Amino acid sequence: MLNIVLFGPPGAGKGTQSEMLIKEFNLVHLSTGDLLRNEISEKTSLGLKAKELMDSGMLVPDNVVIGMIESRLKNNIKSKGFIFDGFPRTSEQAIALDQLLDGNKQSISSMISLKVDDNELIRRLLERGKDSGRADDQSSEIIANRIKEYNNKTAPLKLYYSKQDKLKEISGLGTISEINDRINQVINKL
Ligand code: AMP
Repeated sequence: MLNIVLFGPPGAGKGTQSEMLIKEFNLVHLSTGDLLRNEISEKTSLGLKAKELMDSGMLVPDNVVIGMIESRLKNNIKSKGFIFDGFPRTSEQAIALDQLLDGNKQSISSMISLKVDDNELIRRLLERGKDSGRADDQSSEIIANRIKEYNNKTAPLKLYYSKQDKLKEISGLGTISEINDRINQVINKL
């Protein structure tokens, strides 16, 4: 199995690149942000609880996202592998993911981290907010909160994967296809 954590701050291009990679490598896309937005649009109790946190740019509790990932892993046990997009975001989530995969005799193949500076992230997210309708892409204040959450709780995961010798950092600047080429080069060497 090929199990890739596609990593980076909000606005780094994880969703766009994941869509390309699932076709190129025949993988299942697991985006906790998309799964949560689905719960919100279906007005489930989980969605209603998550909405307020998401709209203010804060992370939702670990047990919520870990539970969502656990059920998707079980349902796709025969797939060629997974792209984890926006998950894990805390060390508790990373540890839980390793344990879940280990239970199936699997592991993370690589964490590919997209590097983009803050000014470019803010520019991209405000631009995306014009058509996405996402509440969390609308204001510089909420975007700043999301970047702060990333720096405090999520960025340290690079150390977690680098200790396992799995971290590959690449530039997330340039065209979509240039970034896709860089990711492909990393995957093809695994
Ligand atoms: P995203 O689409 O990945 O930018 O996620 C949008 C929002 O969903 C985040 O700002 C969080 O509020 C929530 N979220 C998504 N994935 C996670 C996660 N792994 N852990 C906690 N919160 C998450």
